[in-house]
Amino acid sequence: MALLIIFVLGLIVGSFLNVVIYRLPLDESVIKPGSHCTHCNKSINPWNNIPVVSFILLRGKCANCKKSISWRYPLVELLTAIAFVTTAHKFGVNLLLFVHDLPFVAALIAVTFIDLDHRIIPDELSLGLVGLGLLTGWATPGLGLIQSVSGAAVGFGLFFGFAWLYEKMSKRSGLGGGDIKLLAALGAFVGPVGVMNTVLMSSILGSIIGIIVGIRSQEKQLMMTAIPYGPFLVVGGLYSYWIGDLSWLPFMTMT
Ligand SMILES: [Zn+2]
Repeated sequence: MALLIIFVLGLIVGSFLNVVIYRLPLDESVIKPGSHCTHCNKSINPWNNIPVVSFILLRGKCANCKKSISWRYPLVELLTAIAFVTTAHKFGVNLLLFVHDLPFVAALIAVTFIDLDHRIIPDELSLGLVGLGLLTGWATPGLGLIQSVSGAAVGFGLFFGFAWLYEKMSKRSGLGGGDIKLLAALGAFVGPVGVMNTVLMSSILGSIIGIIVGIRSQEKQLMMTAIPYGPFLVVGGLYSYWIGDLSWLPFMTMT
């Protein structure tokens, strides 16, 4: 029952994240005005603004102008709901879930889609998460203040060093300042070991996707620089956060 409520909460938060994803990079207010159609600008009635349900009932079209609404809106809502339930199932339903864990997961979903759309990671989200992680980390079982602070520091340092080396070696900048701040944010929530696992997971994932894209595209270099790295960090970070176990990696059995 509690998980069902968390699922519905996830849908509602996901609906708000759609607004954040669309407006935050444009420096628009995420509060006012209310939701409106991106084609005809008509404000959306509350009964046409029910997460996922309205999209299905309206068959993915605006109630006013009948132009199609992106399938990404219900996708973000569903993803958020599933991520919320996964998090609640893993960490239990308590006060920390609402002030520490769910805001973390929600912000990461916004980061992923904003980075895919605009290749930026807004400081409001990344630095906001660093702040939240440090503020609530001390109370979190299995994390604590020292882990949270050192995680953020390792995340920042690790990626800063990595970005510097990458630039020196490839003579082009590929990893942005946004990625560094995001890794610091992840570190504040998963601690120093978790953040190293995050980098490992995201680079494995990045390499796999890079190879797939490389095979499919003639302009491999061009394509590789066109892929933002933030989403890989988010997936790696959530892996560390939810699962954490890397013993299935052949070279990890030594430790
Ligand atoms: Zn419309």
